[in-house]
Amino acid sequence: MRTLFLYPLFPPTFWSYEKILELVNRKVLLPPLGLVTVAALLPQHWEMKLVDRNVRDVTTEEWEWAELVVISGMIVQKADMAVQIAEAKRRGLPVAVGGPFASSTPDAPELELADFKVLDEGEITLPQFVEAIERGDRSGRFSANGEKPDVTSTPVPRFDLLDFDAYDSMSVQFSRGCPFQCEFCDIIVLYGRKPRTKTPEQLLAELNRLYELGWRRSIFLVDDNFIGNKRNAKLLLPALRDWLSERGYPFSFATEASVDLASDDELMQMMSECRFEAVFLGIETPDEASLSVAGKHQNTRSSLEEAVDRITANGIRVMAGFIIGFDGETAGAGDRIVRFVTRTGIPAAMMGMLQALPNTGLWHRLEKEGRLIQEKADARGVNQTNLLNFEPTRPIRQIANEYVEAFCALYEPNAYIDRVTHYYRKLGIPRWHAFHDPRRSDRPSLPTVTDLRALAIVIWRQGIKRDTRWRFWRSLLSIARCNPKNLEQFLVVLAHNEHFMEYRSIVTREIADQLASLPPEAPAATADLQAVG
Ligand code: SF4
Repeated sequence: MRTLFLYPLFPPTFWSYEKILELVNRKVLLPPLGLVTVAALLPQHWEMKLVDRNVRDVTTEEWEWAELVVISGMIVQKADMAVQIAEAKRRGLPVAVGGPFASSTPDAPELELADFKVLDEGEITLPQFVEAIERGDRSGRFSANGEKPDVTSTPVPRFDLLDFDAYDSMSVQFSRGCPFQCEFCDIIVLYGRKPRTKTPEQLLAELNRLYELGWRRSIFLVDDNFIGNKRNAKLLLPALRDWLSERGYPFSFATEASVDLASDDELMQMMSECRFEAVFLGIETPDEASLSVAGKHQNTRSSLEEAVDRITANGIRVMAGFIIGFDGETAGAGDRIVRFVTRTGIPAAMMGMLQALPNTGLWHRLEKEGRLIQEKADARGVNQTNLLNFEPTRPIRQIANEYVEAFCALYEPNAYIDRVTHYYRKLGIPRWHAFHDPRRSDRPSLPTVTDLRALAIVIWRQGIKRDTRWRFWRSLLSIARCNPKNLEQFLVVLAHNEHFMEYRSIVTREIADQLASLPPEAPAATADLQAVG
């Protein structure tokens, strides 16, 4: 079976980093790990090609070559998913869809033309799909009916289908699921609350494959909570450290974790020894009342600022997500987030307005309360430029304006340089240096032409052209003096503002357009809703 895997386009988001990718000659941040995992789960005698539409278009030859089209994507990719399904059908090809969007909303209009809906986790539903294809079925819907697969037998993804030059980082996955119960989270709906992990040998086999294929850059562990099963993470990390040390640390890592990482010194040290350079934390808000409303109790147990500082002291850069628009939230939430981020110095602080995702606890509660704005929930994807898809407990314009002001304040060029400098003054020395023998490393120690070009552009823009120039040089000298081991990363993080600055104008424009199309807010209705919160 000649199978064409398609990964639909993403709209520009906080994480799309176009300007940064341009600097380093890459097209996309991360590859479609789900699709290459699906490819590994299908019969290996099938011929396979993969086109990531974020990298390039599908060629006529590829369409003509294909006998089956497999498309997977997230909710933000649904518009292009619909376009690709329609194009495949126009060419008379059978189409199978799967992934998070299809699994959470299999009856969405965007998926109407698809012949096969392969829902939930592929380890369970792909064998049913293959059987159906081999029987000659023309359509079908396969779901796991609540069953969650053991991931210890998931094969090594077909990384060989990817064009390595197009990606800034590779992805691997160690665990699925998260033990917590945040009301807005769809991870626990899709993958459950009992984290399932691969074995250390399995993950090392995946890294080995990447290593054999010549990958030598960063790797994102796409787990939604890498430390959801701390015991198993602690079994993996020493084996990973030895594997890395034997090969001269060919990879660096980043991942996502819950804030309770900060209360486990052993775990932070182990991650630092394995060259985890960054971790994304779902902080959401410094407002304790909102965290309780959202069921994010793990973030209320100790000081969030201290948690950020403890992780930072271990040489792991904190990235964090923030949300505005929780029920009962009082005016000034945006400003409180800005002050929190400024105090802690977190360089990349992602912000968004709360969205009710299908089938989450939040979705069901708002549906019961008659507060879901159905057409918004159906029509829009989830992005940092979407208004809330439900009736909030304070005026939506107030929330949206606070959001835009906070986003612009966070990425104002002078404020950004000051914050990143403050952060890098306290960022600890990564522990992996102690295990690194440069003689074992086959990574070039000299910067490449691309690195030098990127550096020259950043220096030209931030250090010469813009009025941030004096601040830029002062900060650079200060970090060169007090934290030279982290100087290279400091420059990379400063360069990130090339993207955020542009994204500020996208956020401002798109929110203003949406606000302009809203009907005037009725003061009485607003007061009623405040009472609900
Ligand atoms: S900690 Fe993160 S992954 Fe876990 S339930 Fe909460 S939002 Fe979801």
